[in-house]
Amino acid sequence: MTIINKIIDGKMYARKLLEEIYPLSKGFLDNFNRKPSLTVIQVGDNPASRIYVKNKILTAKKNGIESKEILLASDVSEDELIHHISILNKNENVDGILVQLPLPKHISEKKIINIIDSSKDVDGFHPINLGKLFMGDSKFIPCTPLGCLYILKHEIGDIKGKNAVIVGRSNIVGKPMASLLLSSDCSVTITHSRTKNIQEHTRKADILIVAVGIPEMIDEKFIKPGAIVIDVGINRLETKTRDNISNKGVLVGDVKFEKVLKIAKKITPVPGGVGPMTIACLMHNTIKAAYINKKIDFVNVLEGIL
Ligand code: NAD
Repeated sequence: MTIINKIIDGKMYARKLLEEIYPLSKGFLDNFNRKPSLTVIQVGDNPASRIYVKNKILTAKKNGIESKEILLASDVSEDELIHHISILNKNENVDGILVQLPLPKHISEKKIINIIDSSKDVDGFHPINLGKLFMGDSKFIPCTPLGCLYILKHEIGDIKGKNAVIVGRSNIVGKPMASLLLSSDCSVTITHSRTKNIQEHTRKADILIVAVGIPEMIDEKFIKPGAIVIDVGINRLETKTRDNISNKGVLVGDVKFEKVLKIAKKITPVPGGVGPMTIACLMHNTIKAAYINKKIDFVNVLEGIL
């Protein structure tokens, strides 16, 4: 296999999913005389969050979804943020609500996630939606793990019986990813910051998912030859110009791409791997929320994935 064939094209998969869901978005407009709608709330002006929110809003617009952004000051009170969410919860014309994380330290993310109406929780972080996912009866699945599963099912087909190892145990990536892989009959190991000798686990992985947030932590020594590696990490490395002025920097994942590429069967790049799929899955969840809002059946475009 040539090197180029080993690189998983996340942008291509994102386009494919967006093409699959567009007829549903169009069908909604034809039936209800309005587009499915998504409102994103951002608190503060974290530059990375600004880019993520901008990409979400733009992709929504391009795919027949009405999108709005509410930008709140970084010192907004928890009560005021809750007030905004309550208004959106009650608004029949708002189908999906997303609060961009992370939130400033004085606001409890847990509390905020709980306030969002679980039928509008397109991020899939509400305890009801996470609980349903773990019961194998999912409604909204967190976008990043869903995107990873979409890639895996298209790349490998049946993943039954595979050894899947996840590095990272966050509520938004690691844990829901484990649940999805379990439901697909993989044998799943979750490793994390307190795991002793992570390599001992990762070197047994047919499928390795890395979501840590440490630039290029995983090198070739962690990889079983022929593994499929999904790098969720997005880290911006500041680079310095010759006159020592820092510029925008480069994006790298949690995996040392060039080294691991030589050993793995397939690997997702950063950027252009998991990132675009996360946004495509958000669009999927938003259209699904619109159908749920109108109490009509949503055609499962992810049949064969879930
Ligand atoms: P998080 O900080 O919530 O969790 C990180 C996890 O890594 C923790 O569970 C921790 O136990 C584990 N960890 C930390 N140090 C470790 C170590 N030395 N060895 C093993 N495990 C260790 O992060 P998150 O929200 O899950 O995000 C992880 C990465 O994925 C970040 O780079 C984030 O930017 C990226 N991300 C990307 C997307 C996307 O769309 N591509 C979406 C979400 C998150």
